[in-house]
Amino acid sequence: RPHRTEAPLLHAVTGTPVPATVAAGLPCATLDGRTVEHANLDHGASAPALTAVKQAVDTATRSYASVHRGKGHASQVSSRYYEAAREEVARFVGARPGDEVIFTRQTTDAMTLLAGALPEGTEVVVFDSEHHASLLPWPAGRTTRLPVPRSEDAAADALERALQARTDRPVLVVVTAASNVTGELWPVRRLADLAHAHGARIVVDAAQLAPHRAVDLTALGADYLAFSGHKVYAPYGTGVLVGRADWLDAAPPYLPGGGATAEVGPSGATWRTGAARHEGGSPNVLGAVALAAACATFRRHREAIEAHEAHLFDGLVDALEAIDGVRTYSIFSSAQPRVPVVTFTLDGLPADLVATALSREHGIGVRDGKFCAHPLVTELLQDQSEGGCAGPVDGTGAGTAVRVSLGLGNRPEHVTRLVAAIRELAGAGP
Ligand code: PLP
Repeated sequence: RPHRTEAPLLHAVTGTPVPATVAAGLPCATLDGRTVEHANLDHGASAPALTAVKQAVDTATRSYASVHRGKGHASQVSSRYYEAAREEVARFVGARPGDEVIFTRQTTDAMTLLAGALPEGTEVVVFDSEHHASLLPWPAGRTTRLPVPRSEDAAADALERALQARTDRPVLVVVTAASNVTGELWPVRRLADLAHAHGARIVVDAAQLAPHRAVDLTALGADYLAFSGHKVYAPYGTGVLVGRADWLDAAPPYLPGGGATAEVGPSGATWRTGAARHEGGSPNVLGAVALAAACATFRRHREAIEAHEAHLFDGLVDALEAIDGVRTYSIFSSAQPRVPVVTFTLDGLPADLVATALSREHGIGVRDGKFCAHPLVTELLQDQSEGGCAGPVDGTGAGTAVRVSLGLGNRPEHVTRLVAAIRELAGAGP
């Protein structure tokens, strides 16, 4: 029987408890010799494991044995852990009868798996604003890339036009639920309804949605959905592809090998259906356990997590914009609902210098660069340089920006420290 863990809780800013991470209170030295608590404002890249995740892995490690292979007690327990993890992930995403839940290495792996499972001749429609994981794996010559839409209506219109132009081949639409660059929420349901009205299917990249908002396949209207463990406070190397079984069961196995085979004879192999078809080789059981523990914790504490993050994020974008020389970026508009992510530049200072100064002088960890979304970042930063300002698209650090992404373990002090640091870097004093 799989264990149950009650997550230790941090006292959140709203007074509601939120789950603790293993990285809470990490000390960090700055250049002037001060030791401050490391302010990790880079949750969008990878989030530190939850304490509950670590506990779950510790417990499962005691019955270390390969799954689905042995009759021994440890193997039986391992198999049970693995399948219970699958059930928990299914609950987390609201999987429907007939959906498959396939464990992958991360979102990139999940999208690549789906790309390999498209029926012959499938055409793909994808927006240029996607993370590279969702932009790149699709078949060359049968993929239409739509320009970054600058409003929800523009997104729907562009998709409608693209779908009208399709033939009678299968079509897959790709959309990210929350942008990893701007945090903006996309009108996924509206785009899914459009796709379905044209007989197309839709895959939702929920890598940035899952850490912050409830994920529900039915509410999103998604045929397929992918997300990564390391962004929902589980370790690296775990992820999921969930969705309709027919394409997946008819596709060549993603990892041909042990576990995926039904029968192997002199003239070749027949393959299993279901998740096992694509999970050849010894699976990452501890990764699955970890991911499931994170999902269970999120399901239990979703409201508190949302309230905590909303409280932290409230006013941050305005505070940054109020600093002379700071520009923040949006795809649709600054009023678009978003997860707690904001990308900005500081006039005259390359993004990598800003990020380095934040780290060395203030103990603040952020990300700088193009965030694996080159077409989107290029377009957003281009807007500013066209506005005639001395924008960031020049000289060193050309076309790069700084991203702040909040999460569990952040406290108001971290956000206040960030704003004071940016004010100082902008020459406006602390
Ligand atoms: N999609 C989005 C929106 C992301 O933010 C990321 C990672 O930053 C990915 C996909 C890829 O995730 P992974 O690197 O875990 O495959």
